[in-house]
Amino acid sequence: MSRPDDRPLKRLPQLEARKSELERCVFCPKLCRTACPVSNAEPRETLTPWGKMSMAYFVANESVALAPSFADPAWACTGCFGCREHCDHKNDVAGTLFDARSALVESGTAPASAKRVIERFSEKSAVLGKSAAELSVMPEVDESAPTALLLGCAYARSAPEESRDAVRATAQLVGGKVSLVKVCCGAPLLHAGDKKGFLQQGEMLAQAIKHKELLVVIDAGCASTLRVHHASNGVDMTVPVEHFAECAARELGRMKRVPGLGDGPVRYHDACQLGRGLGVYEQPRALLSLALGRAPEEFDRRRADARCSGAGGLLPVTMPDVSKTIAKARVDEHEANGGGTVVTACASSLRTFRKQGAKAVDLVTVVARALGVGSKGDG
Ligand code: SF4
Ligand code: SF4
Repeated sequence: MSRPDDRPLKRLPQLEARKSELERCVFCPKLCRTACPVSNAEPRETLTPWGKMSMAYFVANESVALAPSFADPAWACTGCFGCREHCDHKNDVAGTLFDARSALVESGTAPASAKRVIERFSEKSAVLGKSAAELSVMPEVDESAPTALLLGCAYARSAPEESRDAVRATAQLVGGKVSLVKVCCGAPLLHAGDKKGFLQQGEMLAQAIKHKELLVVIDAGCASTLRVHHASNGVDMTVPVEHFAECAARELGRMKRVPGLGDGPVRYHDACQLGRGLGVYEQPRALLSLALGRAPEEFDRRRADARCSGAGGLLPVTMPDVSKTIAKARVDEHEANGGGTVVTACASSLRTFRKQGAKAVDLVTVVARALGVGSKGDG
């Protein structure tokens, strides 16, 4: 029997497929409310997972106006999956809000900052091709190699040393050369609200690697975009897709302890997309333990309960102050737990931690040094 107030999502019919996820939240006593980094940083009811899902639902079924005050909360999400861990239904809030963003963009109501990301996507994502051209002089790079390596736009743009470490380390791990992927996974389009463009980007990437045997992905965000978001929308990469940590952890026997690395505390930050996104918790810890000669230090909030760095889901663009508050909370937690070096496997987290003044090192740099091919010291 349908409920008396059960109404079709007439204004945003694209969200009919997400109606059950939306209704789970709308009729929920908000069990996950303490899990959301956004509403913890800016305590407003509309920014809780419940609030964001409810606003999208009520816009869709015409209970409220199609206005920025009701639409914009859909962009107040880092896509961290934190709420899902606290939800008895394991409700897919992040994926539903990304779909809501797309439906709202199509309806003409979206934050100007998100629209700009869509408009400038081609120009911005060209950084991958530019970086690939620069790195192509490295002896480890060969277009015809069977292993494809996707650095990700954020590494290509802001982490040149880590990009070189990634090339050298991956070539060592696969025992050959690597071919650099020049096509973006489309995550900025997913996060901004251009789902059609996002899916087209996935198809283009699948085409670009269809003759390869393996795709190794450096950025946790790109890996999760391919294996979670593209896969759930039916876009198949056709070749195995591995995050760098998964690939490296199979070759632990070839690595050595890194002198000096473990002289002070070295704490591992579970990037949301690698941990909650892909369930990869053990491999980075095994790699770090080997490089340090002991287990790494841990945050109080770790693994599935790890706090977000605030750098995902386009939050630094749509809500920069909230993003900074979230990043500061994670760095403060690092300091309160003893400080030292923080290691992660996500270019956005790496950048945001460094901006907050933390000493942050990427896992690729640690592994490259453990393999004897690292480009520099400890960052
Ligand atoms: S994600 Fe789960 S716990 Fe959170 S509001 Fe939605 S249904 Fe409730
Ligand atoms: S995915 Fe993360 S940021 Fe988004 S609503 Fe859930 S807890 Fe909040």
